[in-house]
Amino acid sequence: MLIDLSGLSSFPFVDKNYDVAIAGAGPAGITLALEFAKAGKKVALFEGGGLTFDQKSQGLYTLVDDTDNYFSYTRLRYFGGTSNHWAGRCRLPEPIDFEERSEIYEESGWPISLEELNQYLDPAKELLELNGTFAGKPGTQDLPESFYPDPEQLSSPTRFGQKYLETIKASDAIDLYINANLIDIRLDDDLKTISGFVIRNYEGVQADASAQQFIVALGAVENARVLLNCDSQVSGGLGNGGDMLGRCFMEHFNVRLGKFIPLGDAWDGVDSMAFYTSEEFVRESKIGSSNVTMHFSASAEVDGRGKAVKNFLVERACSWGMEDQLSKLFQFKCPDEGRLSSLTEQDPAKRNRIYLSQEVDDIGLRKAQIDWYLSDFDKKTIKAVAEEFAVQCLDGDLARVKVPDFLFEESVKLPFYGNGYQVHGHAHHMGGTRMALTEKDGVVDTNCKVFGTENLFVAGSSIFPRGGAHNPTLPLLQLALRLSEHMLNKV
Ligand SMILES: Cc1cc2nc3c(=O)[nH]c(=O)nc-3n(C[C@H](O)[C@H](O)[C@H](O)COP(=O)(O)OP(=O)(O)OC[C@H]3O[C@@H](n4cnc5c(N)ncnc54)[C@H](O)[C@@H]3O)c2cc1C
Repeated sequence: MLIDLSGLSSFPFVDKNYDVAIAGAGPAGITLALEFAKAGKKVALFEGGGLTFDQKSQGLYTLVDDTDNYFSYTRLRYFGGTSNHWAGRCRLPEPIDFEERSEIYEESGWPISLEELNQYLDPAKELLELNGTFAGKPGTQDLPESFYPDPEQLSSPTRFGQKYLETIKASDAIDLYINANLIDIRLDDDLKTISGFVIRNYEGVQADASAQQFIVALGAVENARVLLNCDSQVSGGLGNGGDMLGRCFMEHFNVRLGKFIPLGDAWDGVDSMAFYTSEEFVRESKIGSSNVTMHFSASAEVDGRGKAVKNFLVERACSWGMEDQLSKLFQFKCPDEGRLSSLTEQDPAKRNRIYLSQEVDDIGLRKAQIDWYLSDFDKKTIKAVAEEFAVQCLDGDLARVKVPDFLFEESVKLPFYGNGYQVHGHAHHMGGTRMALTEKDGVVDTNCKVFGTENLFVAGSSIFPRGGAHNPTLPLLQLALRLSEHMLNKV
């Protein structure tokens, strides 16, 4: 059933006691709601946005000091969440991602095994409509060593909002509340048992929603931000006993690793190839893993004024309904020169963190700030990958690579996005409520339960203690399915 809280002065859930309350209706929240419904449980699903994009909801994703509004552009705050514009690339974690790797990382690794996660692979693939096998891009050549064709699969891409809205509306088990923002989490006197989610609409009306079990599935940044905001009963926020809440935030680096000139005939009819670091190479070099993608520029990549002109034309084209015609002007294949990009693992360092500013948003939550650094270790990974890749391309008669000068300079220009930066993010926000064996190292336990609470769980990539160099959505859905199974034994 769908219930819009807009304009209501009292909320229909106040007399109900659900089996499970879930906040956030992105891929993680929707998957969980469907699983509980299948098992006959009564579910309240609270979505802060409406059914489509609306600036009053999206504006709540504004951070303090966010370079080029990266975190506003890379998240969507309405039903279906960021799956409303995700690209659908899926790639499995590697066994080495689940090793401790204490020789290179200070922070703990995954406290569960990859085998355990992979028990949920088939149903997660079904959710993402992945029917094939994980394989290298067609045409990707083998390299002599250190890199191999990166196995991937593309989802259609599944838009969770569009795909599941009618099912949820028709469901007797799920009450989907929209324009329903989670603004606080209420605890019993024992300060361990959650008694309610505090839900607020855009007119300032708020009420407590009761349930037996509670899940926050708000996306990585908001999971940490909301738990940090819940500090009226527990100082420092929920799950922050070890001062780990918001810490070890990660992205995947998208580094412009250089340009290449093709050799031989491997490139006949091929636009792009994608490679992945071999386990031996990352182990011996003591670095993180990385994808490297070679592509002939398929769309004009321009900076500065050129970019402003391009953005203007794109806007005009869309408003005139001429995007098909005009896009032809901007889609081309460079005749002789290709570009290298990457998707590179980041060190889960504590100093990369989401924390609260003193600025308050329209629903009364303190806004987030994010510190994101490129550590010396990250620079080492990026440089080693670029250098080795250049050598391998030459040895394999595939291409002659020009590595950019900035790799050899001390101050690589960072964050996330925008003109002139050499290192971007990939819109893969991870960490902040990491999974660990104890609260000294993380925020949730191996069952995704928030340390120090009895019945509060977290879903999404915020629980990743390590990010590997794989896309996050498939594994976060595997974890959500695992969580539902665990919780079904409780409700
Ligand atoms: C351009 C782009 C391309 C991407 N491509 C890929 C890709 O190819 N492969 C891949 O694996 N990943 C990709 N991603 C990442 C992917 O979109 C995310 O991993 C995924 O959407 C995360 O799902 P989630 O449910 O955890 O969070 P989200 O999708 O962020 O959903 C969170 C939900 O919570 C709601 N919410 C937030 N705050 C509140 C609140 N206070 N109260 C109530 N509700 C709230 C939001 O409105 C939203 O519906 C991409 C992302 C972007 C931006």
